[in-house]
Amino acid sequence: MTTNVRDLRKWKSEGTRFTMLTCYDYSTARWLDRAGIPVLLVGDSLGTTMLGYPDTLSVTMDDMIRHAGSVVRGAPGALVIGDMPFMAYHASAEDAIRNAGRFLQEARVAAVKMEGGGRVIDYTKQLTAMGIPVMGHLGLTPTFVNQFGGYRVQGRSDEAAEQILADARALEDAGAFAVVLEAIPSALGQRVTQVLSVPRTCVAAPSPPLSTSTPPAKAAVIESANAMQEQAVAWRHAGDDIGVVPTMGALHGGHDSLVARARRENQRVIVTVFVNPAQFGPNEDFARYPRPFDQDRARLEALGVDAIFHPPVDQIYPPAFKTRVDPGPLAEVLEGKSRPGHFAGVLTVVLKLINLTQPKRAYFGQKDFQQVVLVRQLVRDFGLPVRIVAVPTVRHPDGLAMSSRNAYLDDGQRQLAPAVHRAITEAARAFTAGETDPLRLEGVTRERLAATQGLSVDYVAVVDDTTLSRPRRAIPGSVLAVAVKLGSIRLIDNVVLGAERL
Ligand code: AMP
Repeated sequence: MTTNVRDLRKWKSEGTRFTMLTCYDYSTARWLDRAGIPVLLVGDSLGTTMLGYPDTLSVTMDDMIRHAGSVVRGAPGALVIGDMPFMAYHASAEDAIRNAGRFLQEARVAAVKMEGGGRVIDYTKQLTAMGIPVMGHLGLTPTFVNQFGGYRVQGRSDEAAEQILADARALEDAGAFAVVLEAIPSALGQRVTQVLSVPRTCVAAPSPPLSTSTPPAKAAVIESANAMQEQAVAWRHAGDDIGVVPTMGALHGGHDSLVARARRENQRVIVTVFVNPAQFGPNEDFARYPRPFDQDRARLEALGVDAIFHPPVDQIYPPAFKTRVDPGPLAEVLEGKSRPGHFAGVLTVVLKLINLTQPKRAYFGQKDFQQVVLVRQLVRDFGLPVRIVAVPTVRHPDGLAMSSRNAYLDDGQRQLAPAVHRAITEAARAFTAGETDPLRLEGVTRERLAATQGLSVDYVAVVDDTTLSRPRRAIPGSVLAVAVKLGSIRLIDNVVLGAERL
């Protein structure tokens, strides 16, 4: 299947990261396509990298069309974007339309890119109105090299940064499906990402060399419970809202989406990275659970978090620790039935983490749907002053929900795993088509799962989203939840009926 601009919008809304690479020729395109790179940009950096020019100004539409066409032929699965070169749209809107049209007709690219804010915003409107997808490009815009007096980082002053933000918004309003940012400070890049609902990507062309990277801001790593609470109280006294994202580390795109949401909604973001022994059963994977903290830390710094709370076990459970939360009957069904004591462990640590981090909002993934229900119950029952935000499940392109435990799957199991999502999607489709009998919806899922050898079902259940009991009839908002085992690896997933585009 070929990636299209709708996929990009969907990935942005789900918080899924994707890779865009520049490419100028058929054989590289073939390799990149086989490696699954979803977006290829044929940049006018062609001039400096392939044609030996000192800058990109000499590159013509004919050069671009010849190379873009070869990339399209080499990468049938990728969304290929053609970069409009110098003078392709600088003189008039007619030029912009004619040359974008040539790109689509002669090279068969799916979209074009134009550099700059200002006038290209009008051109963007005109091209998108004609059905030609446009990618914007802000920051260092190589066709402006003479005006900028060389290749220099852009957006350093407050005024220039505000202009880039305003241009980004204007490009989105004009219909651009994505915006490229080149050579701007990383903090400004994060601000642009926050204000846009369309994706943004960064480009790095191999030549000319640019020293543009601003290292991401350091996040404080806090290990002591008291120090964490003191810092959080200080932030709250200063009037800042805190968003907390509790995790067990081994971070992936699902976690990123929780953090990105927290970043948008709070002045301060704390991510807790703690593999909580209390929520693992005696025969579960506590000891071998992955703990790649250095990687997690770098990832969180790139996402611009303020603090990472990474306590050793005795900071959460000192020797004198005695009290435990009893989660009651909702912890005895579904996951709780298969994992006795799991939710007592989860709620105990969540209560403690909330007290230590003083959040206004706490972010949890819909993937662990029963966990969200029980954490909401905890907040209600104990009057905790925090809002629980549930964030949609982030998936791999083949539908498998991202999970730290996916790392345990071997190649064969990894191939089988997307069957879970296919099975629940099929039931969700049956619901949309009018089937409301919970048993029949479960039956559709079971049948689908039974067709996948090597996969055994733990439970398939249509449940009410607050009582967790099976409703007489499924209604929009009822949840179809599934747990399966692939060998010794347990996977869970769910779908909210009537809520997702299928
Ligand atoms: P974990 O580190 O597995 O305890 O997960 C930390 C948080 O991330 C929990 O609230 C999870 O529900 C959430 N999460 C895990 N996987 C995903 C995913 N694929 N999409 C969205 N949220 C997720």
